[in-house]
Amino acid sequence: MVRVARILQNSVAEELGIESGTELTSVNGRPLQDFLDWEFLAADDELVVEARQPDGEEVVYEISRLEGEQLGIMLEPPNVRRCANRCEFCFIEGLPTGLRKNLYVRDDDYRLSFTYGNFATLSNVKERDIARILEYRLSPLYVSVHATNWEARKVLLNNPRVPNIVDQLTRLADGGIQFHCQMVVVPGLNDGDVLEESLSDLWHLGDAVLSAAVVPVGITQFSHLYTGKPMDAESAGRLLDQVARWSVRGRRERKQNWVFGSDELYLLAERDLPPAEYYGDFSQIENGIGAVASLRSRVLAGVSALPSLEGKRIGVVTGKGMAPLMPALLTAIGDATGAELELIVAENSLFGPTITTAGLLVGADIQRVLGHRSDLSFALIPAETINEDGVFLDDVVFAQLQGSLPIPVFPSYDFIDCLSVEAEAVAA
Ligand code: SF4
Repeated sequence: MVRVARILQNSVAEELGIESGTELTSVNGRPLQDFLDWEFLAADDELVVEARQPDGEEVVYEISRLEGEQLGIMLEPPNVRRCANRCEFCFIEGLPTGLRKNLYVRDDDYRLSFTYGNFATLSNVKERDIARILEYRLSPLYVSVHATNWEARKVLLNNPRVPNIVDQLTRLADGGIQFHCQMVVVPGLNDGDVLEESLSDLWHLGDAVLSAAVVPVGITQFSHLYTGKPMDAESAGRLLDQVARWSVRGRRERKQNWVFGSDELYLLAERDLPPAEYYGDFSQIENGIGAVASLRSRVLAGVSALPSLEGKRIGVVTGKGMAPLMPALLTAIGDATGAELELIVAENSLFGPTITTAGLLVGADIQRVLGHRSDLSFALIPAETINEDGVFLDDVVFAQLQGSLPIPVFPSYDFIDCLSVEAEAVAA
């Protein structure tokens, strides 16, 4: 169902008197199944829109708009397509109980893959979905491949009914669709020969595969389904060797690194991370591919423009994973500003010590490490820990936490963002 959530002021829709709560049923004779149909079918300038008003009355809107003029219709959020798999390594299955409801939604939705870059397995994609992907050219898609070997994939997704991913990708690629792929690797299940087969199959899809990411399995203390081994330094090193071989081939034959190991693999294997140039357009940075290199280059590019913070003591909170990389960055900032920076490493109290990612720290962790630090001038915390409503994963509200701490705290993506603005005011 496609329903209007709100109408923008001074828009075509407001002029027509379209109300929130109106159900949009067809555009130019084509029935609307969801937001995707609306987005694509309503792109024309001449539209005949059939609708049902909130009181049940059927209406037809004939719309003629100037090129580029916005209709001004905001839709209700779509019903997300739920996942039919039951991966042992599913992060959502590894969440503790008692968190807000929407964190437990296991989406597996090709529409969100195209619109927001969410990874989807395509295991619930039907014939009519394939037709829509091709008709609307939903490209690129972000695909959780994990393994191209069909039997291995059934085990990984814990679903005997998964379609053959190579057949699906080939068919879509033939229709001009491109992909960013990921393989979440479980030691002993989809590393070694299985990963080799996956990379080979993806390589042979040619230009259709824009990037392939190799990511280690991440389990929490609540991952009750997981029966495999954790990723250790040795397994991580072997994966990186495999990635490096395929990268060499990519550079030699296609002039690009098309396969990438996640930052976490390098940290686990205690190897140097590649420089920023290695990651091209950072197409999988949200997946932890090149995030460290990007942070480094942003810090090094921005330090010289920072104000003097002479005499200030600044706490920088991070997770255990990033801790070994931080001293070099903090030294660069300290040298440029005259500030004294202290690295504060917090353990994750919600997910347990196996989760070392800074962005998954929760409000209680920040409270624990900063609650007694009145000796600092202010502190920076990872901005990724807070959602757009200003709430941490453990439902602690940032504004309330801030009020309970003895020092000002700034959520920061790359230190430079805060130190050049908010912290300057504090320093003054
Ligand atoms: S595909 Fe697997 S990891 Fe993703 S949501 Fe479903 S069960 Fe979880």
